[in-house]
Amino acid sequence: MARETGPQCKMCRREGEKLFLKGERCLTEKCAIERRNYPPGEHGRDRQKQSEYRVQLREKQKARRYYGVLEKQFRNYYHKASQQEGITGENLLTLLECRFDNVVMRLGFAASRRQARQMIRHGHWLINGRRVDIPSCQVRPGDVVSLKADAPTEAVIREATALTAQVPAWLQADHDSITAKMLRRPDRREIATPVQEQLIVELYSK
Ligand code: SF4
Repeated sequence: MARETGPQCKMCRREGEKLFLKGERCLTEKCAIERRNYPPGEHGRDRQKQSEYRVQLREKQKARRYYGVLEKQFRNYYHKASQQEGITGENLLTLLECRFDNVVMRLGFAASRRQARQMIRHGHWLINGRRVDIPSCQVRPGDVVSLKADAPTEAVIREATALTAQVPAWLQADHDSITAKMLRRPDRREIATPVQEQLIVELYSK
């Protein structure tokens, strides 16, 4: 299954802000944004030409990288969001937030989406008691997320939960038993993402 690969810190440097793609390291002084906050590459420090298109494109790339989604899949999310009732940009973010890998990360069971994704791909997670190994699977309100009984990743999960200060209000997590439930879909104010979704809608509506 295709996924966003490549050096993650370079992605943050390209977008000019922390996207928190590497878990604990992002909170330390080793973070590349702390040390080299300019775009990667030979011309990284040159003055960048700004245009409306560039701003919109960068916002879309930032969202893709934040959620670890490839271009085609991201466009499919946009298409689906535009066909739903309500505001397209908010629908788009809700679809991305309800991805299984994002939910596992937001619950505090993984330090990053990439780590969550790997555990899911290895078949360690269950939804409503059934093994689900598709990171893009949409979690629905009422779904119960739990760890497979003999999963060898418990230590990694405990490390991640120790770093988690708070779980969003639309989710309910029990870190001791490593189980959780989605209470409802998040609304826009509850989605802590550095993305301005309106710019993405403007880009795709051209
Ligand atoms: Fe981004 Fe984390 Fe790397 Fe910092 S350490 S640049 S926040 S991925």
